[in-house]
Amino acid sequence: MEILYMGTAAEERIPGMFCNCELCQKALKLGGKDIRTRAQALIDGTLLVDFGSDTYEHFIREGRTLWDIHSILLTHSHPDHLSLEVFSSRYHWMSAETCKYPTLKLYTSQGVIDKIWRVVEARGLEKEMIEKYWEFIPMEYFQPIDVDGYTVTPLPARHAVPEQAFVFLIEKDGKSIFYGNDTGTFGTEVEEWLADNNKHIDLLSLDCTKGDVETPYYGHMSMSQGRAIADRFIAKKVVDERTKLYYTHFAHGCKMTHDELAKVAKEKYGFEITYDGFRLKV
Ligand SMILES: [Zn+2]
Ligand SMILES: [Zn+2]
Ligand SMILES: [Zn+2]
Repeated sequence: MEILYMGTAAEERIPGMFCNCELCQKALKLGGKDIRTRAQALIDGTLLVDFGSDTYEHFIREGRTLWDIHSILLTHSHPDHLSLEVFSSRYHWMSAETCKYPTLKLYTSQGVIDKIWRVVEARGLEKEMIEKYWEFIPMEYFQPIDVDGYTVTPLPARHAVPEQAFVFLIEKDGKSIFYGNDTGTFGTEVEEWLADNNKHIDLLSLDCTKGDVETPYYGHMSMSQGRAIADRFIAKKVVDERTKLYYTHFAHGCKMTHDELAKVAKEKYGFEITYDGFRLKV
């Protein structure tokens, strides 16, 4: 499998949309890997993970549109992960006549699906039209589901309570990616399920919204908290020396440039870091 990190930031992005702090000023000057857009990933060029408001720009950067995307896995409904603006953009006179698939499938928790329908109603969109071009498929914690030949298991993230946010285990051809942006330190039931089901993770990709700064906020992780998760997984033998360890989903509160983050991550915690446009094969 190949993962493309299309975006690697939290909601405000880096530089922050309304920010003028030291890091955001530096990022503007440095450009390149220091410009981070909202978190999104694409597996093998086909399976999309998350659907935030930078989606269009991410695809244009890749020189394509979403006309041939069939399925989206959605971690939760925060605005960096779900754009609630574009459901009508698939109506036949805007797009769907030339789409490869008449219906775009969106896999997420029932809590998020309920929220989508509330927004559809509040915007005065016709339910029948949305149902024609979108299919919202509920997933449940620890219940694997086949998505276009990938086995996807949603596991409980500690985030966006009470809507049931997910981290995903994505498996294909004997390889597995644990994609865990937007979560705090999750409960031991996650590694227990992984161990009980004889899983081995080839890529462990974890939330690093706090960078190397410790804060009490429950719903995101620092580098040291991510390292602690890796160590818990190692103890359960689901992560080992073959596993690639990556931090992703950064915020300007990290106060570090890409190069500074990469150095601290590597030297202090044994992790690598992502950047927008970064590709990795497992
Ligand atoms: Zn996020
Ligand atoms: Zn800033
Ligand atoms: Zn979030």
